[in-house]
Amino acid sequence: MKALRIERPNQVKIADLPFPHPGENEVLIQVMASGICGTDIHILRGEYLGDYPVIPGHEFSGVIEQVGNGVTRFHAGDRVAVEPNIACDNCYNCLHNRHNFCLKWQAIGVTRPGGMAQYVVAPEKSVFDIGDLPFEHGAFVEPLSCVLHGIERTQIRLADRVAILGAGPIGILILQTVRLQGAVQVTVVEKNPARAELATACGAHRCLTHPDALEEGVLKESVLKQGGYDVVIDATGVIPLMARTIDFARHGGTVLLFGVPPAGQRMELEAFEIFRKGLTVLSSFTSVRNSYQAVALLQSKRIEVSSLISHQLPLTEFEKGVRLIEEGLEDVKKVLILPQL
Ligand SMILES: [Zn+2]
Ligand SMILES: [Zn+2]
Repeated sequence: MKALRIERPNQVKIADLPFPHPGENEVLIQVMASGICGTDIHILRGEYLGDYPVIPGHEFSGVIEQVGNGVTRFHAGDRVAVEPNIACDNCYNCLHNRHNFCLKWQAIGVTRPGGMAQYVVAPEKSVFDIGDLPFEHGAFVEPLSCVLHGIERTQIRLADRVAILGAGPIGILILQTVRLQGAVQVTVVEKNPARAELATACGAHRCLTHPDALEEGVLKESVLKQGGYDVVIDATGVIPLMARTIDFARHGGTVLLFGVPPAGQRMELEAFEIFRKGLTVLSSFTSVRNSYQAVALLQSKRIEVSSLISHQLPLTEFEKGVRLIEEGLEDVKKVLILPQL
């Protein structure tokens, strides 16, 4: 089979590898669609823990090709998506329902071969039936699961006013999710006009795009209402923007730092402001048992992702896809790799 392998940082090759075989309680999946995520880019650039060589890809869907001994929920031909984080279910964190912090954590596409390949093996417990959901949409089960976990943590209530910084694919998933949770006013800040337009189409109450919104990456005072929002969510991972979230949250409000910032850098927050406003400042790491929810929301179209897919490329154009995302051009949203092309 063909697989895209990162040999070492910044060096990829299309490898011809032997057909993988599913072990006990594992399934073999023919990969149909595999999303390029920021994490794949970090692995490519050598900014992530893990060993090389590695086949990246943890946001994918496909068809069961073969099942190993002991598999009970699946048969060949089933259409599935995968939860890539594999927990042991038997460590201190797993036994406290914090599977996302499993002490023996493994992840498909990070520590095990991933979905940027024609075939991949996954444990049965990580696999979810997607029925007739298009494969391209099935590739969003994983990122949507992460969003659902983050939004669960914020405990958004009916009629909340929410501000979201960033309208990339994740910002748009967050926008749709908070609306489902009952937020009545969702204000989105996004500098890219095409993305801002999409946010408006996806139900943002207001979308702030004017070029003056950001000055050297920093939000200007006037852009969002100080203390105006019940929940403020950062979906950029840009530290100077993340640092402004506490200003926009109301007294007793909540801040969710969802975007992934670069490692090793500090963020400056006014400690007294957090105290005086009684803020809840949250982060979110991967997901915990959110895959069934994600599949159901995509199948029912309560969460709509077709407008988030901008490119569908063959395996050989993975690096091109990465460049498109890194350059952040106007029309780039989610880039999917279709390994069977
Ligand atoms: Zn991802
Ligand atoms: Zn564990």
